[in-house]
Amino acid sequence: MASREPNCLFCKIVAGEVPAEIVREGERTIAFRDINPQAPTHVLIVPREHVATAAEAAHADVGLLDEIAREAEEVAKVDGVAETGYRLIFNTGTGAGQTVFHVHGHVLGGRGLEWPPG
Ligand code: C5P
Repeated sequence: MASREPNCLFCKIVAGEVPAEIVREGERTIAFRDINPQAPTHVLIVPREHVATAAEAAHADVGLLDEIAREAEEVAKVDGVAETGYRLIFNTGTGAGQTVFHVHGHVLGGRGLEWPPG
């Protein structure tokens, strides 16, 4: 049983206690559609295990971020955006816009994406 935080929204989604539109379920991660999509493809990839941020994951769980990047490519294939391109984003910390402190990669695609992001 993966470790979880009792008040964490994404732990509840992983446990099936809060509904989400699941795109893929892996051994270590799940991918679900963002409830407030910012692009035609907007999917979140989260580890089953509770880890707060990408920075923490990089230290605490070597290989986890690689797994999320691999899953992002699979999600992009599911949505048909792997060829045209997609963005994989980890908002890390409040100042960068992180609102849910259970690490998640945003996969965005299906429209032109500006650089730099806002
Ligand atoms: O990077 P940040 O922490 O801001 O991303 C959290 C994301 O979780 C938001 O894009 C928000 O729309 C999404 N969300 C969701 N389902 C919920 C609550 C939040 O997809 N039930």
